Amino acid sequence: MAPHEAGHGDTPALPDALPIPVVDNHAHLDIARGDAPAMAIADAVTKAASVGVDRIIQIGCDLEAAQWTVDNLDAYPALLGGVALHPNEVPRLRDEGGLEQAWATIERLSAHPRIRVIGETGLDYFRTGPEGVEVQQESLRWHIDLAKRTGKALQIHDREAHDDVLRILAEEGAPEKTVLHCFSGDINMARACVEAGYFLSFAGTVTFKSAGALRDALAIVPLDRVLVETDAPYLTPMPWRGSTNASYLIPHTVRAMATVLNVAVPTLCSALSENSERVYGPW
Ligand SMILES: [Zn+2]
Repeated sequence: MAPHEAGHGDTPALPDALPIPVVDNHAHLDIARGDAPAMAIADAVTKAASVGVDRIIQIGCDLEAAQWTVDNLDAYPALLGGVALHPNEVPRLRDEGGLEQAWATIERLSAHPRIRVIGETGLDYFRTGPEGVEVQQESLRWHIDLAKRTGKALQIHDREAHDDVLRILAEEGAPEKTVLHCFSGDINMARACVEAGYFLSFAGTVTFKSAGALRDALAIVPLDRVLVETDAPYLTPMPWRGSTNASYLIPHTVRAMATVLNVAVPTLCSALSENSERVYGPW
């Protein structure tokens, strides 16, 4: 273990606060990691706000989590929400004969005025094998249509499926506000997304030593298209990789991004805040 690398049992220290508050564009406050229970929502929100992360998009991407998201939004003004069926959920729901009904439930939950995101939907060819491809694509198309019908932003999960994600978005006609969550493409993919008018949301992975290609991709993204997220409890930024992630750790990611983009931290913070409100509307 490197001197600054944390183990699962460690609780990361509070980073220095950001000079201008930003939005965590994608977190799963309902999900626990390892043996520890998920942090209480009030603690997660308060701790994040103390370091300049004063707004969070809570993503519920299975039926239970989507209901949890809607149930908790109104108690926490810092939260807006997203609902969808994660691509890795979809083959199982189809096998059980419950996919159509699950879509109907997501559509009903998405009507809540503080649900501003349809997501995360998309394609995951890493965790789902070839037998799941067709139904994932069908579900992605369904979510694209829902985002357009409701006027909400779309958040895309793309794992080892870059070409098909871009193709299906183009075929369907992407929603006006489309976000590539946890962007994982290379510089060519980033260019294609910028050209198509999409937003690119970067997670703690951009701080990893091995992520040179991802940093090269970030470097060409215009400031008015860039977003930041945790994907908490996963993808904890350096120097806390290996610990449980939470919104209060985003300052590490933001500072690393400012270096890559060659802009001052306050300049990037303003852009991240403005872009988020442009995509999701006011909190
Ligand atoms: Zn996620």
